Amino acid sequence: MDSIQLLIKKAEKYLIEDHVDVIQEAYNFALASHKGQSRLSGEPYINHPIQTANFLADLKLDHQVIAAALLHDVMEDCDVSFGRLVQLFGDDIAKLVDGVTKLKRSEITPDMKKVHGNNSNKLSDEDILQAENLRKLISSIAVDVRIILIKLSDRLHNMNTLSALPYDRQIFIARETLEIYAPLAHRLGIWELKWRLEDLSFQYLNPQEYEKISLLLKSKRSEREIYIENILNVLKPELENFNIQYQVSGRPKNIYSIYKKIQSYLDQNKKIEEIYDFFALRIIVKNVEECYSSLGIVHKLWRPIPGQFDDYIANPKDNLYQSLHTTVLCEGAFPVEVQIRTQDMHSTSEYGVAAHWLYKSDSNLDDDKFDNKITWLRQIFEWQKDVKGAKEFVESFKSDVFKNQVFVYTPKSDLKELPAGSTPLDFAYRIHTDIGHRCVGAKVNGTLVPLFYQLKNGDRVEIITSKTVRGPSLDWLDNDLGFLQTTSAKTRVKQWFNRQELKNNIQNGKSLFEERIVHYNDLMSILDISELMSFNNESDFLNALGSGKISVSKVIEKLAQKDNRLSENRKLEQNSHKDDVFNTAVTGSGDLKTVIAVCCTPSPDSQIVGFLNRDQGVSVHRRNCKEISDYDLDNQIKVDWNNVTYDYNSQTYPSRIKIDAYDRVGLLRDITVQVAKERLNIASCTQEEYNDISIIYLTVHINSIENLGRLCSSLDNIKGVISVSRTVD
Ligand code: MN
Repeated sequence: MDSIQLLIKKAEKYLIEDHVDVIQEAYNFALASHKGQSRLSGEPYINHPIQTANFLADLKLDHQVIAAALLHDVMEDCDVSFGRLVQLFGDDIAKLVDGVTKLKRSEITPDMKKVHGNNSNKLSDEDILQAENLRKLISSIAVDVRIILIKLSDRLHNMNTLSALPYDRQIFIARETLEIYAPLAHRLGIWELKWRLEDLSFQYLNPQEYEKISLLLKSKRSEREIYIENILNVLKPELENFNIQYQVSGRPKNIYSIYKKIQSYLDQNKKIEEIYDFFALRIIVKNVEECYSSLGIVHKLWRPIPGQFDDYIANPKDNLYQSLHTTVLCEGAFPVEVQIRTQDMHSTSEYGVAAHWLYKSDSNLDDDKFDNKITWLRQIFEWQKDVKGAKEFVESFKSDVFKNQVFVYTPKSDLKELPAGSTPLDFAYRIHTDIGHRCVGAKVNGTLVPLFYQLKNGDRVEIITSKTVRGPSLDWLDNDLGFLQTTSAKTRVKQWFNRQELKNNIQNGKSLFEERIVHYNDLMSILDISELMSFNNESDFLNALGSGKISVSKVIEKLAQKDNRLSENRKLEQNSHKDDVFNTAVTGSGDLKTVIAVCCTPSPDSQIVGFLNRDQGVSVHRRNCKEISDYDLDNQIKVDWNNVTYDYNSQTYPSRIKIDAYDRVGLLRDITVQVAKERLNIASCTQEEYNDISIIYLTVHINSIENLGRLCSSLDNIKGVISVSRTVD
C-alpha cells in the first residue's frame, strides 16, 4: 500500500468521512502542485508532505492540521497564493499553511543584521539567522499552536532525510534541531517527538558517540531482555494479588539521554559498566489510587534507592507530565527506574499538548480554548530557558522577543500585545479611550488587582468601569505611582484634563461672574466686559476668571473706574475648590472560589483565614501558617468553615502527616498499606533521608478527625516508626 493510502486509513480510524474527504482533496491538490518536483534525495517531493502529515495523524490531530501538513510547502515551492487556498480549503487551513510558510528559513538580510547586530562582530550569521527563525516561531505560537506542530513534524521528516544535504547544512540543521526544536517538543510535552529529534540530531553532531552507545545497547539487548523478564515474573503475580489491572512494559531510553547520563556518570568518576539504568520499567494502571498501591508493591519487592523517588502526580511537571518515578535495586542489585501512571497520564506523556488539545476539541468552549492557549504560551516562555547557544544569540533573542512586550488576553480571549511593564489601566486605554477614562478597577485572572499591577504574559484582564462617566485621576500621570506605562494612554489622560480644565474654568468663571460681578453692572454684556478687560472673546475672559488668572476684585475695580462707582462690598471670598475624589471601591468578589492551602492544609477543627489569591480565588490557611506572614494584609478576608466550599460534596479534605522512622526495607510499603486499610487516598508522598532516619511526608484525604486520629495511631504502631504528627510545614 502506498503511503497516502496508509495515511487515509489512519485518518478514517478517528475522523468523520467529510473530514477524511478534505484530507484526500488536500492530497490531490498537493500532488498536482508538486508534480515533477523531487527532493535532494531523489524521491518524489510529495513523499515529504505525506510523511509530515503521517506523524500528525499518529498524534490523532484534526483534519485541518493533516490537510495543512499535506499542503505545507505549496505556497513556498509552487507559487500557490493564499487566496487560492482560502478559496479551495477555507480560512482555517489556509492560515495554517500560511503560518508554516512564514516560518521558512530566511536568508540573512541587512535589516536583520541591524536588529540583531549590536555586537555584530561577535554574532555569526548563523546565530542571527537562528535568532530570527526563533522569533518567527514564537510569534506563530500566538496565532495558532497547530502551526508549530506541523513545523515540528516537518522537521522530523527533514531530519530523517538529512543525509541528502551537504555537510555544513546537515550540521546547521542538526544543531538547530537539538537546540531549539527538541526542547520545544519537550516543552510541549510530546515525548516521542522530542527523543526522535534528539537522537537524529545527535547522530549528525556526534557520530562516534552515537555509534558507541547504540553498539553498547545492542550488545546488552538480550541480557537486558532476560533481566526484564525476570523482574516481570516477580512483579506480575503481586499486582494480580492486589486485583490491579495493569499494563507493564520495559523500554530502552533514547540514545541522547543515555549519552547525557554517561556524561554525568563520568563526571562522578563512574565507569560505563556501572550504568545499568539504560531502560525503564513502566506500569500503567487504572486510577491514581492504584498508582500508589503499585508503588507500595514495587517498594515491597525491591529496595528503593533513597532520593530517587519523585511524585509527579501530586506535583505535575510544567508540561503537564504526571507519573510516579522510583528507582529500585532489582535482582542482582542493579538499579531499575520504574514509572507508574494512569492511561490518561500516559497519553499526555506521549502526545503532550496535542493530547490535551484533542480531548478538549470536542467541547470547544471559549474557556477551554483559553486554557489551552495559556498552557502553550506558558510552555513557550518556559522553553526559552532551555535554548542554549551563543550567549549573544540568547540575549538578543530574549530582548527582541520578550523584554519589550507582554501578551495578555481580553475576557473574550483576544490577544493584546503591550509594552512590558504595562498595567491594567494601559490595557483599558488600549481597548478604548472611554474604557480607560471610566476604569475604576481591574481583575486579572479573575482576581481584583491594583491598577498599577504589572501585567504578566498570559494574564487575562478584565476592566471594571463605573456606570456614570467619570474622568481619569491626576495620580495616573504621576510616574512614581506607576499607574501608566504607555505614552499613548498618558497622552489621552492629559488631553482629558486639558479639555476638562477649560470646561471647568469657563463654568467656574461664569458662576463667579453671575454671583459676584453682574450686579455691579447690569448694562454691560459679558462680551463688553471681556473687551473692557482686554480679552478677545467671552470664553477667554471666563477661563481667565475661573482659573484665577484675573481676580474678581480686579474686574470690579475696572468696572468701578469706568462707572465712577466705588465698590461697596470688596470682601472677597476664596473660591473653595473641591477636588473630585475618586472612589475606587469595587464590589463583586462575593462568589470567589475557595481553595484549601497545601502549605498548612487546615482541617475543620482549625482556626482559618482567607487570602485573595491571584490564580485561584481565595486560599484558606491556618491562622498560624508560616506562609501567610509575608502575605499582603489587604488581601486578607474573613472566612469560616461554612463558606469554605472546597470538596464540600465529597466531605474530605487533605491532611498532611509527618512520620519519623528508622529506615528499613518495606517501610514505605507498610505505611501505604496502613493508609489503604483505613480506606483513605494518598494525595502525595515524599521521603527525605538523614543517615538512618527517614522522614516521610504524607498528604492524605481524610473525612473526619476521628478518621485522622485512627490513622495516626495505626501508623505509630508500624515497626521502626519513631513519631507521627500532623504538620503544617
Ligand atoms: Mn517541508
